[in-house]
Amino acid sequence: MRQRDMKRLTAKVPELTHAQRQALMRQLAAMEGQAASVGVIEDRIGGRCPHCGSTRMVRNGHAHGLQRYRCLCRPKRCAMA
Ligand SMILES: [Zn+2]
Repeated sequence: MRQRDMKRLTAKVPELTHAQRQALMRQLAAMEGQAASVGVIEDRIGGRCPHCGSTRMVRNGHAHGLQRYRCLCRPKRCAMA
């Protein structure tokens, strides 16, 4: 997000009701939790195919906030999320 857009977004926060602020904080907290989970999963995978151990993979879209990869050694059998 551009800095200008971020300023516009944060300028709107004082206009929120208490309930809206609480809902926003819950959503942000959930997003942070998801980002942390994604980091743990990606670290655990370590850039290797979990089936054959190959590092020869290409990006193949996203699913549930995770980068999907396709293994080049056995493309049909080693796709992982
Ligand atoms: Zn593989």
